[in-house]
Amino acid sequence: MGDQSLAEIAGNPDKEHATTAAYRVLYDGQCEVCQSCVSWLKALDQSKITCLPISAEVLSAVDSRLQMDECLRQLHVVTPGGEIHVGWDAVACLARLFPSTWLIGALGQRFPFRNAGRWLYGFVAKNRYSLSKCRGGACRVAKPEAVRRHAKLGAFWSCYTLGFFIRVPLVLWSGIRAAAQRTSIFARTYHERLDLLNGKLTILFLNGILPNTVPLLFGELFTTVLYDGIAIDPGSPKMRRSLARHLRQVKPRITKVVATHAHEEHVGNLNWLSGVTGAPIYVSEMTARFLTPFKKLPWVRATIIGQPPNLRQPYHLLGETIDTESGYLQVIPTPGHCDDHIALYDPKEKVLLAGDAFMGSYFATPNPDVDSRKWLLSLERLMKLDIDILVEGHGHIHTLRADIPDFPAVVIRQDPKVAIGQKLDYLRWLREQIEAGFQEGLPVRVIEASCFPWGRRTSWESCATDECIRLLSLGHFSRTELVRSFVRTDGDHLPIVYEVRISGGE
Ligand SMILES: [Zn+2]
Repeated sequence: MGDQSLAEIAGNPDKEHATTAAYRVLYDGQCEVCQSCVSWLKALDQSKITCLPISAEVLSAVDSRLQMDECLRQLHVVTPGGEIHVGWDAVACLARLFPSTWLIGALGQRFPFRNAGRWLYGFVAKNRYSLSKCRGGACRVAKPEAVRRHAKLGAFWSCYTLGFFIRVPLVLWSGIRAAAQRTSIFARTYHERLDLLNGKLTILFLNGILPNTVPLLFGELFTTVLYDGIAIDPGSPKMRRSLARHLRQVKPRITKVVATHAHEEHVGNLNWLSGVTGAPIYVSEMTARFLTPFKKLPWVRATIIGQPPNLRQPYHLLGETIDTESGYLQVIPTPGHCDDHIALYDPKEKVLLAGDAFMGSYFATPNPDVDSRKWLLSLERLMKLDIDILVEGHGHIHTLRADIPDFPAVVIRQDPKVAIGQKLDYLRWLREQIEAGFQEGLPVRVIEASCFPWGRRTSWESCATDECIRLLSLGHFSRTELVRSFVRTDGDHLPIVYEVRISGGE
């Protein structure tokens, strides 16, 4: 059978690398030791190898000589020429593919290193059973009861901790790389603006001394979007000078001021901007309620972003549409990020001004306002739209349109519907994972960890950043909140016992 069908059967993100030139690595997808070795392989070079978790379909598609039990016992590598290497010889064969590990591979096939390698490999292969997480894979071979007896921390935590420690250098390296990228984007957008669609769409990047810590530490940029005469989300009082500076430079014609939702970094200048431009304010009924009076923010958010003033009259309530200079925008309720969220959509230009209704395909550290079940429904609603350009409230633009110029890491060359689809898939997978966890009666900490299995690249790649956010926000924005976001009390989707479990600890 050819590699193309193998890629289909394997159905994993590696399929673009499933060329005949690749070495195929068959590993136990349930084993933390095997999975972390695969993370290392992918970090070394993704183009030379295709990693395939073992299943009956995969084995028969790759090579009929492969046996399930043998493959679960030790690593198998199939070379492009069809040779099969097993155990230590497979490790040495892979090591020879990469310059940084070539020497290990070259020595590893010679006496006495070959004998030492085989002995060591045999030792690890035998003992990794005692660390696997008893949900199939190697554990089917090794008897779950024996696994539980051997694992001091509990089988799950033994695996998870081991998977983490083997990846620590990768976690730190990705953390450093992400920080460097955030700094670069911050520097390139500092006091900048993007004029797009012949001036119909302008993104103003907002700065402020304390607010600047957010793009540097978390990667979220602050913006005001000007679209065909409408100013959307004019920032917080601590960004007011930055906004005023833009207005002096651009001198835009603003006919309306709109807020997508009542978060502090979007609504702090509504009355101020209306005052200086004479443009009326439009907000949804719920946003107006949240803003009169504005609830007291947790002190970290109040210090960094700034406590917004209460919304003052006069203001108007948004209807189903809002007129722009040359047409109109549809107002689409999109609860999930918070209950009052609305997105704006231009059906003529196929532009979605999403506010915070998207927030990237992978987003793991929400605040307590997020309700992921509502968010799923809102994204399903957005999927029905015809979207060419997706503009996020924190600076990112997703589009394939050639008339939007390149701006690395801000303009993302991706079909907006594909991006939304990926987020939907991710949220649905999380929902399944969390519901299954509760049904199995797992403790909340285990459910949280099972939402970030190390086998998923994003879990360890964003681990340093996510944990840094948790620490700096004093737990307010965290992976734990992501689990909570699926079991909010006002929905009656899940029995109350879950909420008791969440709030009452384990
Ligand atoms: Zn928000």
